[in-house]
Amino acid sequence: MPRHPDFERIYQSFIKAYGEREEEVYYRWLRKLGYDDTKPLEGQTAEEGFNWIGTVDAPAKNLIRGEALHPVKTYHPEEWPEVRVYLEEELARSAETLMGKPLLLDHYLILPPPNRVVYATYRDGALEYVAEVDDEVAGMVRDGLIRHCSVEFDWERLERLDGVAPRGIEFTGLSLLRDVEPGDPRTTVELWEGILRHLRREEKLVAGEKKETGAAGELTLQERVWTRRYINDLPDSAFAVIEPGGRKDEEGKTVPRSLRHLPHHNASGAVDIPHLRSANSRVKQMTNLSEDLRRKALEHLDAHKRELGIGDHGEEAVTQKDGEVVGGEVPTWADGIILSTESAIHSIEEEVEELRRRVEALEESATLSKRSIGEGETLSEGVIERNPVIDSTRGELGLVEELLGMLPESVPPGVGYYPAELVQRLRRFLLEKKETRRQGALGRR
Ligand SMILES: [Zn+2]
Repeated sequence: MPRHPDFERIYQSFIKAYGEREEEVYYRWLRKLGYDDTKPLEGQTAEEGFNWIGTVDAPAKNLIRGEALHPVKTYHPEEWPEVRVYLEEELARSAETLMGKPLLLDHYLILPPPNRVVYATYRDGALEYVAEVDDEVAGMVRDGLIRHCSVEFDWERLERLDGVAPRGIEFTGLSLLRDVEPGDPRTTVELWEGILRHLRREEKLVAGEKKETGAAGELTLQERVWTRRYINDLPDSAFAVIEPGGRKDEEGKTVPRSLRHLPHHNASGAVDIPHLRSANSRVKQMTNLSEDLRRKALEHLDAHKRELGIGDHGEEAVTQKDGEVVGGEVPTWADGIILSTESAIHSIEEEVEELRRRVEALEESATLSKRSIGEGETLSEGVIERNPVIDSTRGELGLVEELLGMLPESVPPGVGYYPAELVQRLRRFLLEKKETRRQGALGRR
């Protein structure tokens, strides 16, 4: 069957761009998108699922791509556990956690931005990734110095099979290998220079694309990232599923708040597209929920996707529903960045909450002691006399120091500006606190 002129034009541009490998790249592209190249391009929609062009729409300069891991055994002679078995279902479940994570070189050097993973998915028996790299890294890949890679991850527990299988994987980075042998020799790193720009331009030309969008929508992190407090203030209707067993507070919101899962409506009730997508990708992993609740959550999210025409239903309708929908301009590769920023902020919020509780408890005990402090005695003397263990001055100083110790030295590059800023502000606040407390303590002696 002859190629339709639309596709003939694209095919020719592949030949121009990729020389001897043109055919293979062209057919991979065609297969990925599920196009029929004997028919006009207009009217055909890219197949559901992994769509390199539709999903990776960052205005990236250098992109690399490849396979980061396969469900195989890998052997690490100098590290424990030596033999690691990667289970297929585990890789499928955890693949997306690689998105937004930093790139490293030979497992020791964290490469600075813009080097990072922008997309990851599990498909066709491999963990596939796309990453943005700077010119230097792109050069090393082009020169064949980097041909393999190796994932970094945390795991929740190990299962002993034929070897040891990590479970509850959360990827933390992708290391490019220059001087280190790969644990998985089938991993690949290839340059993907210009292919996105190229294909997008061709597709637009051929399909007579009307909207010339330019750069991907600006990410306004403050609106996109929901703090724990923000989530707790949302009404029950903002969540895909609420576990039974709670009660409603005076505002009609379920307590404890931890029974509410997968928030995807913002405070004004609009569907937030990035949170809808995240909820959708996380629902199957929520094994602490019953099968029935998970199914209900999926149905709820699916109903939104149908209504909005996203996911399996094409990307068309999203922009037309202002007010009811927000965040439609956020590219999918940013979902992972938003999620990891939120989890960083949530853990900082928890630490601050814990600090608040402990300070309150200290104040409480200080007040109790104060009642029995005689005239002329200072608060700390009174406290020390009655209870040598609880010295409110020293206790708080210790607490401040403990909290300082909890803050990370630096926030990993993939996490984003806002949490990094938050950590800096907390550190400054605690250091000031420490200084005033220390002076106060000295003054009293
Ligand atoms: Zn909903």
